[in-house]
Amino acid sequence: MSSQYIGHLKQCQICSNNKLELILDLGHQPIVQNYLTKEQLHEPETTYPLNLVRCGDCGLLQLNYIVDPRFVFPRNYPYRTGLTNMLIRNFHELADQLEKKYNLQTKDLIIDIGSNDGTLLKGFKDKGMRVLGIEPTDAAKDANTHGIPTLQTYLNATAVKNALKKYGPARIVAATNVFAHINNVPELMHNIKNLLDDNGIFISESQYIMDIVEKLEFDTIYHEHLRFYGLKPLAKLFNLHHMSLVDAERIEAAGGSIRVFAKKGRHPMSVRAKKLLAAEVRAGLYNSKTLREWGARIHQAKRDLVALLITCKKTGGRMVGIGSPARSNTLLGFTHIDGTFLDYAGEKNGSPKIGLYTPGTHILVVDEKKLYKEQPEFALILSWHIGAELIKIFRKNNYKGKFILPLPHPKIIE
Ligand SMILES: [Zn+2]
Repeated sequence: MSSQYIGHLKQCQICSNNKLELILDLGHQPIVQNYLTKEQLHEPETTYPLNLVRCGDCGLLQLNYIVDPRFVFPRNYPYRTGLTNMLIRNFHELADQLEKKYNLQTKDLIIDIGSNDGTLLKGFKDKGMRVLGIEPTDAAKDANTHGIPTLQTYLNATAVKNALKKYGPARIVAATNVFAHINNVPELMHNIKNLLDDNGIFISESQYIMDIVEKLEFDTIYHEHLRFYGLKPLAKLFNLHHMSLVDAERIEAAGGSIRVFAKKGRHPMSVRAKKLLAAEVRAGLYNSKTLREWGARIHQAKRDLVALLITCKKTGGRMVGIGSPARSNTLLGFTHIDGTFLDYAGEKNGSPKIGLYTPGTHILVVDEKKLYKEQPEFALILSWHIGAELIKIFRKNNYKGKFILPLPHPKIIE
């Protein structure tokens, strides 16, 4: 792994331009998945700079500090796709769409990069297609146990060689929620191209910069997400690597994402992708003044949220968190919302985070049943991007307190 892509970056990750402009400084933050045991609370905790910068040439918004991926995605990485209902629905829909759109046959091979527990591939396997996952964390073990063949490794030249030797080239290579996570972009593109057959389709899903800007979703910025894609820098990226961005659509996953289709060689861009690109330009996503104003709105949102929580706490009510997704640790860390405000955060039964403490802010994660039993007066929805869904579930389960939605504008829901 080249050290050129670890630590403080002075060049754009896509086009190597060195005109990088600071858009948002979120302070130094720990790795969002580094939940701590009670014992670890007595030890020092490592934090890293978390800055969003903009490339003056291709317009890519990106981090300018890359943490060694071995620390960001350790083998015991706790996230499991199969625990998130919205992602399960999204992946079923994706498998159906691809089967129709590309007339997939049972002989076709589908490779998923960063396949986690195999949730996406299961949809294709159920349709009778050949599938292969590539996944560095122990989620690979879960996938293999459930009959989804998975190589437990980072995507690298050896993994590509092994996959090709045993399975041949792929009709589809998917990278959902991982295409913005891998640090060495030229090597990544090289590996993807080698996995694809000549008419193969590369499909990525990444959080979309349009949603992040529109909805003030700065909490999706953490050290796992190295790049925040719009179609303009993506088109340039594929072009630089002799591929073409052929189609794109907005999807709901992860608070608003972009699903992008690319092929080897030179091909035209679809009408709907061109329209999205034009909308990005109109929204000012490639304009540094618009983006700096967006940064200022985030600072204001932080002050407004803290002010609201202080007002609530003054009533004497107890306050807890709902959910403890990775992204909430950027929200909590940047706003300094810690045990001063939240007694604990409730996660769904079965979450590996239960019994541990949030990185940086040290809030205990408990089974959400505690919340139903104790009925705290205020519940801050940390998974606010699926807030409406959570409010329904918590009301159905008889939670009687008030909900607080932190973003884009903090508000109380009675
Ligand atoms: Zn660039």
